[in-house]
Amino acid sequence: MKCLNCSVDAREVDSEMDGIELVCPECGHFGVSSLIMKQRARRAFDVEKTQVFLHREREINPDRVPVINSESVIWA
Ligand SMILES: [Zn+2]
Repeated sequence: MKCLNCSVDAREVDSEMDGIELVCPECGHFGVSSLIMKQRARRAFDVEKTQVFLHREREINPDRVPVINSESVIWA
């Protein structure tokens, strides 16, 4: 599948969360909640700011997969 943030080829991985989890060469391993999946049909993420957010989250919490949800989403 295409990365939900930057659109390069990414790999979807099994997820326990309510949404989609994927691994992208540019954005890394992250999740997108099902609510945001619905909303992004009409809107797009700010690609660069979202990548910065994801990389920063992984620095803060290396053991946790960062998730784009209603609180963390950065719309373009
Ligand atoms: Zn990506």
